[in-house]
Amino acid sequence: MKEELVLNGIVLYATLVGEYDKRLVVLTKERGKITIFANGARRPGSQFRAASQSFVMGSFTVTSGRESYNLHKVDVSEYFEELPMDMEKMCYASYFCELMSYYTREGDSCVKNLNLLYVTLKALIKGHMPNTLIKAVYENRLMDIEGQGIHCYSCVKCSDKELTYFNCKQGGLLCTDCAKKTNTTRRISSTLVYTLQFIQSEPLGELFSFSLSDDALKELVSVTDSFLNEYVDKKFKSLEILSTLA
Ligand SMILES: [Zn+2]
Repeated sequence: MKEELVLNGIVLYATLVGEYDKRLVVLTKERGKITIFANGARRPGSQFRAASQSFVMGSFTVTSGRESYNLHKVDVSEYFEELPMDMEKMCYASYFCELMSYYTREGDSCVKNLNLLYVTLKALIKGHMPNTLIKAVYENRLMDIEGQGIHCYSCVKCSDKELTYFNCKQGGLLCTDCAKKTNTTRRISSTLVYTLQFIQSEPLGELFSFSLSDDALKELVSVTDSFLNEYVDKKFKSLEILSTLA
């Protein structure tokens, strides 16, 4: 008999397979992003029925196959059941999972990613911050974990600490002199500099505990969106749906 493993994680998404089964893509602490087959998950009375859905967090007892895993038992610690009740939040949560899936692979160490996803889904449910701010915080923090964050502590070119411009292609913030030399025209506020640094360095428990003025939020969203467009080569289904809701 094959050895059973217990993997802890969050279901990023679930797809239907055949008449009764489901294929789960799960971000796990122990093995990174993996595929788990939940056989019979759609049969009435199946123990997997409630657990084989997006955002479910728990311990998955599996056996390992050649390219995927088979589910034997699941202990759910969190369903995030508030998310599917709000279409807009549901779209944001799906996008967070899609972006996470884009960045992660099997075998990666994903503890930071998993913790970030957890606190972000919690923040979305709490609703103390605008969804657009939660999205920008998540994107910046995740890009930073993946070594692709906006360079924001010193000038990309000369390491000067006085930061006044942003250039996507250069990878981040610039001082006035280097901005001139690189034909950079996008001026930024000191609030943006501070906000980016805060998002990259603040402990996760405090990450979703600040507010921004409307103008500062617009600037953060605009800079983050252009950075993502430059470095992430994928269209996300959930964002397309979200744009139709606005
Ligand atoms: Zn410089």
